[in-house]
Amino acid sequence: MPAIEFRDVVKRFGDNVVLDGLSFDVPQGDRVTLIGPSGSGKTTILRLLMTLEEADGGLIHIDGDPYTHEYRGPKRVAIPEKRRRVVRNRVGMVFQQFNLFPNMTVLENIVEAPVHVLRQPKDEAVARAEQLLDQVGLADKRDARCTQLSGGQQQRVAIARALAMDPEILLLDEVTSALDPEIVADVLGVLRDVAASTDITMLLVTHEMQFAREVSNRVLMFDHGRIVEEADPETMFTAPRHERTQEFLRAVL
Ligand code: ADP
Repeated sequence: MPAIEFRDVVKRFGDNVVLDGLSFDVPQGDRVTLIGPSGSGKTTILRLLMTLEEADGGLIHIDGDPYTHEYRGPKRVAIPEKRRRVVRNRVGMVFQQFNLFPNMTVLENIVEAPVHVLRQPKDEAVARAEQLLDQVGLADKRDARCTQLSGGQQQRVAIARALAMDPEILLLDEVTSALDPEIVADVLGVLRDVAASTDITMLLVTHEMQFAREVSNRVLMFDHGRIVEEADPETMFTAPRHERTQEFLRAVL
């Protein structure tokens, strides 16, 4: 059963049809990179998976469970918030702009959701947070305010915060785009470790093609909300078949 399944998903913003019946699967444990020009719908796909956007048509399944909508007979109906939340807890996301709670400490940021959403005992959540901070190389920043941290450090906190929820699926949206070039390697190193040490399913949007090549086992090339090419990273980056992919990669590589 795939970790993520899109079936004929439609998403519009006003008259702008961003996804026009998009279907694809991400098998469990896969690391899939979405590439393609700006505006091709990559972020929208991640936002649909975080329920930050609502699809106008089609279905999304997580581990085979209907996520935001299901069909009852011919009728597409929204899934009640309470049922939806159970599935949403399986999905974690790291954003380009970190999105940490600025008025909290590093530790408070990480334990917030495990304690308040998953109802984990505080001491358990703190122990896990400390372990994750160690993993991302920020054990000494436990009690710092997030505003005192560099961008790269904030992003590593954001990764620890996402992992603290023990997600089955991790969504990464251009997580290095807001960082200074010399910091990017630190954050990618942390993600490389996560990829190597867990079996989390990952869906990532990145302009770091070398990173995409190292961590992902499949690359989907998007244009205007459609998959124009799908291949393993080696093939995609060295011998793309589609003219649109060749043109895109020439511009970014
Ligand atoms: P990508 O991540 O590939 O750059 P996006 O998913 O961000 O593409 O955007 C796809 C299209 O959807 C673009 O045309 C963009 O302008 C539009 N779009 C995205 N979010 C919104 C929004 N909140 N309101 C209106 N249009 C949006």
